[in-house]
Parts: sequence; structure tokens; C-alpha cells
Amino acid sequence: MQRKKPLYRKVNTRTHGVRHGDGGEWRKSRNTKVVKQDLSYNGPMHSHHRHGLDYTPLFRFLLSRVGDDWDKTYSEAVARIDRSDPIFWLGARSKEERKPYVRLGESAYYNGLYIDENKRLALVDPTLTIDDMRPTCGCCSHTFNGERFTQPYDETFGGIR
Ligand SMILES: [Zn+2]
Repeated sequence: MQRKKPLYRKVNTRTHGVRHGDGGEWRKSRNTKVVKQDLSYNGPMHSHHRHGLDYTPLFRFLLSRVGDDWDKTYSEAVARIDRSDPIFWLGARSKEERKPYVRLGESAYYNGLYIDENKRLALVDPTLTIDDMRPTCGCCSHTFNGERFTQPYDETFGGIR
């Protein structure tokens, strides 16, 4: 048996809370349309990010269990976190909730997950790779499943395909 290490960690809210878009003059000169577009993502749906806990280890754990029995994976995960809802930030509870990718926080993206008909954890879009992901701004370091995006920020495009 593995040791039951928690699947979350406390974050330094001082650095974590750095506001997207604040800062230097060079940023102010940027296309305001792009900035506006990016801020629109910070809607009430993402308000669960006010707390100072980082569930990256949980998300990595879930991704490492794709193809495994869901009940077993769920009970193992839930024993190692303080509350169960972060599991469902990635894992769709209904067909309508299934998304190819999920955005958490300012710029962290993960594969969307669901439970397949055999009760196994599955990727909503197994064809999606990090190379498909495009940064929505030039000031944040975007990640997909915890890895840095491979595509550079492109102001003319600005967004994810
Ligand atoms: Zn940014």
C-alpha cells in the first residue's frame, strides 16, 4: 500500500493572489480587446479559487488513474483530500458537464474526465494534447495537466482552439 499523503497543498496566498493583468507599462499598451476577453473567464463559475489550497496533486492523481475502476479511485482520492468537490472540478457528474478540458484558476487547464459505462475513469477527449492548447494572454504561465503550454501566446489569435 502507498502511504496516504494528502492530495492537496497549502499555497502562499500572497503570491497566488497576484492579479492577472496588473503591473508594468508594457502590459497597458497591449490590445485591450484581448485583456477584456481574458477577464471574461473570471466569472462566478471560478469563484471556488478563493481558498488557499492547491489541488494539483489530486488532479495529477486522477489523471494517472484514467482507465482504472472509478469506485476504487474515488474512495482512495477522497480519503486524501479535505472535501470531495475538487474531484468534480475535473470529473463530470453528468453528460452535460463533460468538457474536453477544464480551466481552474487563472491559467491551469486539465483534461476533462468522466466515468464511462464500465465504471472506469476516462478522458472526455483522449485526442486533446498540450500542443492543442493556446495561451489566452502573454502575462500568465499557462499549464495543461501541470505542464507548461508548448504554444507561445499569439496576440492575433488569443485563445484556445
Ligand atoms: Zn495573464
